Amino acid sequence: MKRETLAKLLLDWYQKSGRDLPWRVKGGPHPDPYAVLVSELMLQQTTVKTVIPYFARFMQKFPTIAALAAAPLEEVYLYWQGLGYYTRAKSLHQTAKLIMTEFGGNFPQTKKEVLSLKGIGPYTAASFLALAFNQNETVVDGNVIRIICRLYNLEQTPSKIMPLIRQKAEALTDQNHPADYASAIMDLGALICTPTTPHCELCPWQAHCLARKKGTITNLPLRETTAKPEKIGKVYLVFNNENKILIRKRSEKGLLSGLYEFPWELENAPVFALKAQQTNLSVSHIFTHFRLNLQIYILRQNTPFADGFFISEAEIKNYPFSTLMKKVYKTYSQSQKTATETANVKR
Ligand code: SF4
Repeated sequence: MKRETLAKLLLDWYQKSGRDLPWRVKGGPHPDPYAVLVSELMLQQTTVKTVIPYFARFMQKFPTIAALAAAPLEEVYLYWQGLGYYTRAKSLHQTAKLIMTEFGGNFPQTKKEVLSLKGIGPYTAASFLALAFNQNETVVDGNVIRIICRLYNLEQTPSKIMPLIRQKAEALTDQNHPADYASAIMDLGALICTPTTPHCELCPWQAHCLARKKGTITNLPLRETTAKPEKIGKVYLVFNNENKILIRKRSEKGLLSGLYEFPWELENAPVFALKAQQTNLSVSHIFTHFRLNLQIYILRQNTPFADGFFISEAEIKNYPFSTLMKKVYKTYSQSQKTATETANVKR
């Protein structure tokens, strides 16, 4: 199969059936590299559907790189709240400052410079340069890996054959239309060559796909077998006699840095070891390298601890919390609501 044929088939399909997304433009690069940068950071580990409303709100609040650089980090967190993985928000904010101070407000256009920004690895750099500046870069994400494994019927786990996958993805890239090509192959993965039920009958590459010919589509790409390790811990909802709840700010370094939370600790490494009342409520959350399961405990005490402070429950919305802590509070609130409704019914 000829590279030019495949690229043309894909680009024609994209013009007719590709998605209209606010951070890109069909027919070339986006006129505003800032929009591409914000979307790239938001899309790391989050789906397009989830990102769209957050992107709109964020761009309305911080319409330029200068506006973002000038904003306090906590305000940026508030507009990121709900997307999770807050290190991305922090990186985006640091990157905005770097672009203003080190690059005079102009977006860098070389791979080396883009990689020197915060939170930008090889994938994001390639995608940014292709979509914002139409540079000849190849994006290789989960969608592209799946498509390449199927198109060439590669029957090995992707981690073992990444150089081969990259080589084939690069060979396919249309050097004359890198921005459209990057968008097109991502759309093909998201809309047509989906993980479980691909719509091969609509695929522009159906006549060339080796996995389709061999009937191996649903096996590919071969699954990686490593499961994420699980950690178990306790999270404390501490109320004082005014029914205010204790929160604290995490340090500026490490996991969920700079966000607010209810005090929590790992079961095998207790820091507080409080005599709190255990509930039957728990939440779990998947981080990049592990799954965390937190059992919810309740404690009544008036003295703050762990550098925490008390706020009313109405004030919670004014503080940026991690997705994990929002789940904790939601789980607790819903249980309280259910308990109240049950008590009312019995009366
Ligand atoms: S024919 Fe099917 S499996 Fe092959 S690339 Fe297209 S959608 Fe994916």
